[in-house]
Amino acid sequence: MPKNWKTKLIHPDAHAPEGFRSLATPTYRGSTVVFPKAAAVQDTWDQHTVGYTYGLYGTPTTLELAARICDLEKGFRTFITPGGQGAIALINFAFLNAGDHLLVPESIYNPNRKLTLEVLRRFGIEVSFYPPTVGAGIQSHLRKNTRLVWCESPGSITMEVQDVPAIADAAHKVGAIVILDNTWAAGVYFDAFAHGVDVTMQALTKYVGGHSDLLLGSVTVRDKAAYERVGSTHQLLGCAASPDDCSLALRGLKTLAVRLKAIEEAALTLARWLAEREEVELVLHPALPSCPGHVFWKRDFTGSAGVFSMVFQKQFTRQQVLKFVDSLELFEIGYSWAGVTSLAVAYDFSSSTHRSEHGTRIVRLNIGLEDVNDLKADLEQALGATK
Ligand SMILES: *Cc1c(COP(=O)(O)O)cnc(C)c1O
Repeated sequence: MPKNWKTKLIHPDAHAPEGFRSLATPTYRGSTVVFPKAAAVQDTWDQHTVGYTYGLYGTPTTLELAARICDLEKGFRTFITPGGQGAIALINFAFLNAGDHLLVPESIYNPNRKLTLEVLRRFGIEVSFYPPTVGAGIQSHLRKNTRLVWCESPGSITMEVQDVPAIADAAHKVGAIVILDNTWAAGVYFDAFAHGVDVTMQALTKYVGGHSDLLLGSVTVRDKAAYERVGSTHQLLGCAASPDDCSLALRGLKTLAVRLKAIEEAALTLARWLAEREEVELVLHPALPSCPGHVFWKRDFTGSAGVFSMVFQKQFTRQQVLKFVDSLELFEIGYSWAGVTSLAVAYDFSSSTHRSEHGTRIVRLNIGLEDVNDLKADLEQALGATK
């Protein structure tokens, strides 16, 4: 059939030569996936068994990233979501029913806490919080209807490392599912499934992306039953991630090991240096004995990340702490972490639903890839400015 040039714009005859073998995973964008025959059309989400049916369930770029994360975390399968918070929401919606009880550590990532209190409660889910250092004592928090037990180790800001195997043991005895936010360990420094976890999530926004320029999340499951549950919910909630962002995350993966190593060393150097300073009461870095749960980090983790918190001495006012952060020149002020730029944020735990004995004296630092001596000099001059 001869074609008008306008038709050729949509149905071209000319193509680039085939056989290009690049080292980068191609970025496949796509909503429509074409079927060979009318009878072959179907809307099944499980692209692993039926092949590709619709872009919402993943293109080869998305599914390549999912497969790589799954392999690193040693899970059964992984789903990619538009962000870490999306991964958290997906897990909760996949597993919870009205009337279920949900247990969450007090140290949980704050948007996760808000989701439980402001959304899940509206859907008839009972929510209660447990001290992150509870360990086997979780038993007294479990109820007959406890369906999910969240862990986050170390916890956000206050950094408590959890005894995940003890919590998982007790939770499994009452038939609850154990979920872990494995973002701090980048999915590589803590082998979640070997420690009794059933489902993990990560904000790939953090170390996998690694450059503060994308938002992505992952949910990794241990077995087929959880895969079915999360997969059908992923479809119905419409949690599609952008293949362009996945392509950036695939690039980030290639340098994950060297970035983590450099960041780990710099963070340890700075954490140990800060711990010796007279202005500082406490450094909350999992690899330091001063961090709650340090023994579990030592037992269960194979490395440490670049995010930790410092707590000023008791006499420090909120104003002095803010002055410290404002005086930093290399550390920028902002949310998220795990990029190449060092960051500092002062937290106020005196009035929120998440209370902490550290009140307004706590600052979370993200260590980036700047020269460690320059970062130390910056911290030193900013500490001086609080006097
Ligand atoms: C950042 C973060 C998230 C959420 O990730 P987003 O991609 O920003 O939505 C979840 N959990 C932890 C521990 C985080 O630090």
